[in-house]
Amino acid sequence: MAFCRSSLLLRKALGGSSRRVAAAALCSSYRSSEGRRWYSGEPTSAAGYHVNTVPSYMTGSVFWEKDKPITYEDFEMPRPKANEVLIKTKACGACHSDLHVIRGDLKFPCPCILGHEITGEVVQHGPQTDSNVIQRYPVGSKVVGAFIMPCGSCFYCSRGEDDLCEPFFAYNRAKGTLYDGETRLFLRNSRKPVYMFSMGGLAEYCVMPANGLTPLPDTLPYSESSVLGCAVFTAYGAVAHAAEVKPGNSIAISKAFGATEIIAVDVQDEKLNTAKTFGATHSINARKEDAVAKIRELTDGRGVDIAVDALGGPKTFQQCIQSVRGGGKAVMIGLSPGGGLGEVDIIQLVRRKVKVIGSYGGRAKTDLPRLVELAEQGIFNLESAVTRKYKFEEAAKAFQDLDNKTIIGRGIIELM
Ligand SMILES: [Zn+2]
Ligand SMILES: [Zn+2]
Repeated sequence: MAFCRSSLLLRKALGGSSRRVAAAALCSSYRSSEGRRWYSGEPTSAAGYHVNTVPSYMTGSVFWEKDKPITYEDFEMPRPKANEVLIKTKACGACHSDLHVIRGDLKFPCPCILGHEITGEVVQHGPQTDSNVIQRYPVGSKVVGAFIMPCGSCFYCSRGEDDLCEPFFAYNRAKGTLYDGETRLFLRNSRKPVYMFSMGGLAEYCVMPANGLTPLPDTLPYSESSVLGCAVFTAYGAVAHAAEVKPGNSIAISKAFGATEIIAVDVQDEKLNTAKTFGATHSINARKEDAVAKIRELTDGRGVDIAVDALGGPKTFQQCIQSVRGGGKAVMIGLSPGGGLGEVDIIQLVRRKVKVIGSYGGRAKTDLPRLVELAEQGIFNLESAVTRKYKFEEAAKAFQDLDNKTIIGRGIIELM
């Protein structure tokens, strides 16, 4: 729902071009597996460091494997390499993607440090780092990190399509490393490598390639701003790039992208109510109503211009496609547990010229600075996007709550 909610939040911000744009967010909350206990409530406490100089060790939360508790371990202080930044983590969002790894739905090398939605303070640059990077991110400055950390030089990055960065997927998502094929995380005593899910944000310090960062102004808080790096970033990518809804130059930023009708679809009334407070004009409980029929009813039988599926299961995939009008766009941003194959009515697709589009995150170099700007202008209400805060020691609890669907917005783990 965090994605879904941010989509709505964005679409509210993305309102008001001359043409009428209707958007539906299909976002069923997925089933939790009852009684599963992979979390532990007994971590060691995080050590408090004085950060005038970089300490030698840090504490990180380690996910070992499915059905094993998350534990807190001592690590060697991670060492950034060229054009990488060592960050003292201040806040990290608890996202469904982390939960997918915890539940074993998304394969990832273990042991690893999860957490990919961070803000923090720059403490060190890698040797031989470009002077522009050092100027842009001086030691002591505030930063926000995108979960897609572009390499900056591959085929896609050089075309400005850094949401498709090949090394990010080949190294980070496939192997849990950065782009030299190595992790920056090693356990203190054994020197055993621990892998990085994005930057591995659920640790006192993390290393990020500078290409994934954006300066965070003093006016924006550490905790709430962390959602810019995944939840808001993903929603923005879906609307701005996949759906290609263009902001009008002369239109107020609060109506920058054009959606005037926003239909939220979920299976929990509580989430739908929250969606309304974020600007949804209609809501549909897919458990009680036929979502596609209702969407058509609300749009003079036509369907919406853009439908976003934040779940990514075969059924919502189909509903997403069936919900759009002729020439409309069905944008898929969800990675459902187990994934699976979706069926498409080819005749409808051809005759109605429906576009089915995949979207994963946004573009760190161009989108994240824009999102920071929008947040600074108050276009996104970051405060209300975050509905629960946890201490670092409570990371496992945050994922437990996420799994139990008791977090309506975003849960943020604070490391301050
Ligand atoms: Zn995420
Ligand atoms: Zn790249």
